[in-house]
Amino acid sequence: MNSAVILLTNKECPWRCLMCDLWQNTLTQTVPLGAIPQQIDYALAQLNSKPEQIKLYNSGSFFDPAAIPLSDYPAIADNVSFAQHVVVEAHPRLVGEKALRLRDLLSGSLQVAMGLETVHPEILPRLNKKFELAHFAQAADFLRREKIAMRAFVLVKAPFMNETEGLEWAVKSAEFAFACGATVVSLIPTRPGNGAMDRLMKAGEFAPPRLATLERALELAINLRQGRVFADTWNLEQFSTCSTCLEKRRQRLHILNLTQEILATIDCPVCGGL
Ligand code: SF4
Ligand SMILES: [Zn+2]
Repeated sequence: MNSAVILLTNKECPWRCLMCDLWQNTLTQTVPLGAIPQQIDYALAQLNSKPEQIKLYNSGSFFDPAAIPLSDYPAIADNVSFAQHVVVEAHPRLVGEKALRLRDLLSGSLQVAMGLETVHPEILPRLNKKFELAHFAQAADFLRREKIAMRAFVLVKAPFMNETEGLEWAVKSAEFAFACGATVVSLIPTRPGNGAMDRLMKAGEFAPPRLATLERALELAINLRQGRVFADTWNLEQFSTCSTCLEKRRQRLHILNLTQEILATIDCPVCGGL
């Protein structure tokens, strides 16, 4: 399926999650009415063809009215009326009536992407997500009842975890997301760069996952066979210590993402695949 992602510029997300750097390209004010449909129009004009699936990601929650004005929903739905599937992102606590409003305006189906991050009972509260697993499960249940699909973002090696825990809890979190009805889990290797994570790194409370941990998390989560699992391969070099195997491993992850089939690991004579 052809898929495109449009990154919308809008007001900064009101949450302040510890590991998030999405505020870097946001605004302090709500955008004027009509600005979001205009952004979508502009982005679509850059594409050669109309994709079957379109993701409207806004570095926050689509259902936050300070980010995406409710009165823009009809024009937005009109903009993407060609798409069979529309994906938006939202914090679990903002999933409700507005999701139904958008669903009813769309020609295609709606899917909501929610950041689960981790199901680790002590670390989830420390991420400042300000939700409990029950909130996530309730939002997922609401979406399921309303025939709206759901996908989840899961961190590979959240802060305060070592490499082994990072892998173990990524897979447990994917299992939880699938049990809540997710059809897709996206595995996000936790990155520094937002200031807070860099301070944790200095204090020895966070280190990014190794590439091998991301690879293993993807394999194990695919092997759950509960739904599709994708590894985020953006800036993958951050997680690699070896230029000899990086491109081959990037390619392998890409193939795993596309096929959902496990390939043999890359045997690297220099780093041994760490
Ligand atoms: S809710 Fe999402 S976008 Fe907002 S701060 Fe948290 S992780 Fe970032
Ligand atoms: Zn190597």
